[in-house]
Amino acid sequence: MSEVKTEEKVVTKKYRKPSKKKVCAFCVAGEKTIDYKDVAKIRKYVTEKGKILPRRQTGVCSYHQRELANAIKRARNMALLPYLGD
Ligand SMILES: [Zn+2]
Repeated sequence: MSEVKTEEKVVTKKYRKPSKKKVCAFCVAGEKTIDYKDVAKIRKYVTEKGKILPRRQTGVCSYHQRELANAIKRARNMALLPYLGD
């Protein structure tokens, strides 16, 4: 007689810690429009090469991302920001 032991394996899935959810900085500040002349603020959302950072990196909401993109384009036009860095 052989005894077969069935072991119940409880597979616990490893949960990835949810990263701190970023809140749109412009919503927090209560700003509806983004001033293109405020280069110091806009600079944070542009790479060194002058590219606009994606939303998932900055945490900006879709509305402000659009406003930001417009502000950056305007700032480029006014030569406040480079079209291409380097
Ligand atoms: Zn926002």
